[in-house]
Amino acid sequence: AVPLVIAVSTALAAKRGLLIRNRAAFERARLVNAVIFDKTGTLTKGEFGVTDVVSLDEAFKPEEILTLAAAVETNSEHPIARGIVSAVKGEIPAVKNFRAIPGKGAVGRVEGRKVMVVSPGYLREKRLRPSDERIEKLFSQGKTVVFVLIDGKLRGAIALADLIREESREALARLKARGIRCLMLTGDNRQVAKWVAEELGLDDYIAEVLPHEKAKKVKEIQAQGFTVAMTGDGVNDAPALAQADVGIAIGAGTDVAVETADVILVRSNPLDVVAILELSRATYRKMV
Ligand code: ADP
Ligand code: MG
Repeated sequence: AVPLVIAVSTALAAKRGLLIRNRAAFERARLVNAVIFDKTGTLTKGEFGVTDVVSLDEAFKPEEILTLAAAVETNSEHPIARGIVSAVKGEIPAVKNFRAIPGKGAVGRVEGRKVMVVSPGYLREKRLRPSDERIEKLFSQGKTVVFVLIDGKLRGAIALADLIREESREALARLKARGIRCLMLTGDNRQVAKWVAEELGLDDYIAEVLPHEKAKKVKEIQAQGFTVAMTGDGVNDAPALAQADVGIAIGAGTDVAVETADVILVRSNPLDVVAILELSRATYRKMV
């Protein structure tokens, strides 16, 4: 039978939009001394707006680069993709052979051309170097930058900006007041990560992490002796959520993340991470 305090706590939690799927993990939550947040959609709103489009090839105007990129991105669920699509005012052409490259970008055929929208890390892998002051400036401003390849050549870049959630500041202050180490794990570039980390006073951050590396990073922090709670939303986050002592899916996340998680936060609010840890402490204190 389920002890009454736990049943009451679980019901209370559910009322606030904290769905506990794994009771053993909920019990472990009181011991958590490191929280790893994913950036996009948890610490930030995950609502990207396009701020700049840079042409790196005279043959392509910025509007054309944006439209071709948007065509590919209509098939992607990534928050960056949604930002790019909503920046186009006119009509968006159709895409064929769409394929996502997890943690790196997306590719498809648009108007007979092969169009790729990719991360800075992907460019480095392919040894393509955008040596352009305009790009350097976008990075230094802490923006998210993706590159557009058309028929295999680098033709442009799109810069986007997201907003830090108001609740993130309070959540981090409360966790740090309890001596809990606060970290951020993101696939986005180092400069954006640094900017968010400094804004929020995070203890550390790990940027440009590929999807398959996320679980490994969680393991490393556990190996340092930490009991780890991890938040995530994407399909790519599922292994890391499974590895964490407490895996927390944010409500707007994909089915895979939600099915793997120990706890689901319906409101995608970082303060609810604090609430789960506090509720676990309160629940299991009453039982001793
Ligand atoms: P996170 O979940 O931490 O934001 P992801 O693994 O989803 O990171 O993505 C990492 C990086 O890969 C993004 O910052 C971006 O550069 C690139 N990327 C992934 N998907 C797309 C996409 N659909 N369009 C453009 N870039 C993408
Ligand atoms: Mg993600």
